[in-house]
Amino acid sequence: MKQLAAGYPSIVRLSSLGQSLEKRNIYALKISDHPGQRENEPKVAFLGCHHAREWISVEVPLEIASYLIRNYENDERVKAIVNSSEIWIIPLVNPDGLDYSILNYRLWRKNRRLNDNGSFGVDLNRNYSFYWGADDLGSSPLPSSETYRGEQPFSEPETSAIRDLFLNVNFSAVISYHSFSQTILYPWSYADLPAGQELLFQQLASELASLISQVNGRIYQTARSSSAYLTNGDFIDWVYGLFDIPALTIELPPVDLTAGGFFNSEQDIQSIAAENLPAALYLLDWAISTYNHQEGQLNPERKNQLEKSPGNSLKNKRVRLTGQEGSN
Ligand SMILES: [Zn+2]
Repeated sequence: MKQLAAGYPSIVRLSSLGQSLEKRNIYALKISDHPGQRENEPKVAFLGCHHAREWISVEVPLEIASYLIRNYENDERVKAIVNSSEIWIIPLVNPDGLDYSILNYRLWRKNRRLNDNGSFGVDLNRNYSFYWGADDLGSSPLPSSETYRGEQPFSEPETSAIRDLFLNVNFSAVISYHSFSQTILYPWSYADLPAGQELLFQQLASELASLISQVNGRIYQTARSSSAYLTNGDFIDWVYGLFDIPALTIELPPVDLTAGGFFNSEQDIQSIAAENLPAALYLLDWAISTYNHQEGQLNPERKNQLEKSPGNSLKNKRVRLTGQEGSN
């Protein structure tokens, strides 16, 4: 990441969103034509590795960054996208967990929080505040569980860093990469209910799946996140619940455990990254073509007005969702 940022300073800015429990930086690459400025342009985020053992989910967003940066000068489509949007790449939300997975135990999933009972780890994708801990199916109150949700919403520095970025930057769309199962998931996760914009999410997910399948022939299923199993306190529910934007989870290959589970062969890494590129570009084009410049410009003020107006629930909703003034 540092090399990419250093080699192309005019279109890339590397920053740290905060630090993990063990004081590793949570890096973000911002790719745009004036990366040091906040412009009236749509912002799209690509995140990886909420879960430590899902190594391929680091590679895909990094490869998207690399592709955009390296092809900026000679590819008109890439240039147009980079010039008219801000792309945020956060490939490693859980650096402590990844390190532990590499050095100690390959199947480690959570972060490295030392819990009260002596066990380790909070599931970062159960630690966001939207319907956090709504039930014990979608997350666990037990510290030793693989889906332990933590003591309270945003108890972990890693999720807090992501929260702060999203409160600071008005994103238009987001993909969070995981593995495995080859599926594209959209809200809601906490209950088997349709999101208000489910039709749009279905259309986006189908388009992405179609573009992906055209590269190597791999089929990614599309589904409401809760249709397979419940998840509460996850990232995409929080993003959609708070910001009302498309928020997708892409579970990368392979399709199941017998095909490798969390292990991807060396040769598959490039092909998985390659097949996800057109889908990422499509989402960027979508964000650009649907962006309302006037609203984008006025958005912070409009948000402010909404929060101040009496009887408007946004303020309460925001407090509940950000967990910044207590939790419930
Ligand atoms: Zn995952």
